[in-house]
Amino acid sequence: MVDAVTLSDDIFAFDNSYARLPERLFARVSPSPAPAPQLLALNRRLAEELKLDLDRLTSREGVEILTGGRIAEGSEPIAMAYAGHQFGNWVPQLGDGRALLLGEVIDRNGRRRDIQLKGSGRTPFSRSGDGKAAVGPVLREFIISEAMAALGIPTTRSLAAVATGERVYREEVLRGAVLTRVAASHVRVGTFQYVYARQDGEGLRALADFVIARHYPELTEAEVPALALFEAVKARQADLVARWMGVGFIHGVMNTDNMTISGETIDYGPCAFMDTYREGQVFSSIDVGGRYAYGNQPGIAHWNLVQLAQALLPLMPGPQEKAVETMQAAVDAFPEQLQAAWLGVIRRKLGLSPATGVKAAEEDAVLANDLLSRMEANGADFTLTFRGLAALTDPEAPEREAVPGFFADPDAFNAWAAKWRARLAEDPMVPAERRAVMNGANPLFIPRNHRVEEALAAAEDGDLGPFKTLCAVLERPFEDQPEHAELSQPPLSEDAAYRTFCGT
Ligand code: AMP
Ligand code: MG
Repeated sequence: MVDAVTLSDDIFAFDNSYARLPERLFARVSPSPAPAPQLLALNRRLAEELKLDLDRLTSREGVEILTGGRIAEGSEPIAMAYAGHQFGNWVPQLGDGRALLLGEVIDRNGRRRDIQLKGSGRTPFSRSGDGKAAVGPVLREFIISEAMAALGIPTTRSLAAVATGERVYREEVLRGAVLTRVAASHVRVGTFQYVYARQDGEGLRALADFVIARHYPELTEAEVPALALFEAVKARQADLVARWMGVGFIHGVMNTDNMTISGETIDYGPCAFMDTYREGQVFSSIDVGGRYAYGNQPGIAHWNLVQLAQALLPLMPGPQEKAVETMQAAVDAFPEQLQAAWLGVIRRKLGLSPATGVKAAEEDAVLANDLLSRMEANGADFTLTFRGLAALTDPEAPEREAVPGFFADPDAFNAWAAKWRARLAEDPMVPAERRAVMNGANPLFIPRNHRVEEALAAAEDGDLGPFKTLCAVLERPFEDQPEHAELSQPPLSEDAAYRTFCGT
């Protein structure tokens, strides 16, 4: 029997709309085969969402496609070109140096999704890099991106992780792997900067038309599409960063090439969730100045949006001076939008209804920030503190005593809780409803650094058990899972010097 007979139908029904854009926006790439592809992880639910046949996807042919070793029927592999500001420094040419867009599929909900390989080898944008990725960082992105999705935070997804059988040379010799990343698209702020910096007006227009049609079709008829596009991206970024802040997520490398136009979180390199709350927390080994610290994320999103606004300027009609003024006003409104989004997030976490009025907003922000500073001063765990609040609104709950115990000085919490209770007394929500809101806003399970490291170390030794358990638990982050209680806990002694790397 010949495999090819049973496998002749397409596994992916690929379209390649990005490859129909002007050729200077990307490079066509023919990937090279991996010597011994071996499937490490497959996201079955996502595969189903993408209408992929699981048996075929896990067949030899399927796994070869997932390393780039075989080009699927209908796929036109390309590396996308982009530029960007890395740590504030302008880099005119970046691009997919270790990624390959295989094509796009339409999912069960009619949404177009990119299927991209990360780690499949060199492209014209690789510069001095090898275009490869190692098992550890690939599985790390798998865990964290899927945890983000389960937390309800817009993100690129992980469909599969495949070991290549190749060695990858970093500081040590590592096993190579490829991640299959799924995204609403891979267009970044840096993609716009790329065409803008080349004064490629035609490319800029084509790119803007493409993203409007794909991500913001309702704007096709907008009076000033470039402005409407900017407003839409800004709104999604405000929402996104507010949600990150709400779960203690630190992206770690918020360069403009790592900020999507769709509003999805992208590029899980040095990211991490914090245990103890610290506004200035940084995990990334290369972020020596703390540019991308937890508390700086809103400001950096603003900075990145300024770069996008600038890149869109040539598409604005009328006199340039007027266009600059209009864009500037749109940019200036961002901090307030982000603050409003953050307040929405934090109110749910505190069990408060959305309230209107400037005074209520100010008072609730003060209340929330007061809790955060007390957490920081008392070494309290961010996730467990918020999760524990719901029990405090229930006189019957046995875990009522837990939260003050997270604070070095329990009275620091108790003094805050008195103010919080007074505020709750004015809120219209009934207790059961409130607890449901809180338990849906305060996860119990996040990918804790020490647990992620444990799972990756075991995987490195050939044991995928802890990785699978961790992924399964993180699929239901808001549910009590008493049998996995240990995965909800911070490390016994926190490794404040925990460092993350770009995974390159
Ligand atoms: P990142 O830090 O992941 O946002 O990557 C920044 C740039 O470096 C992008 O253009 C990547 O494609 C490129 N890059 C990162 N790692 C590699 C690698 N191992 N080989 C080639 N290019 C890479
Ligand atoms: Mg990147």
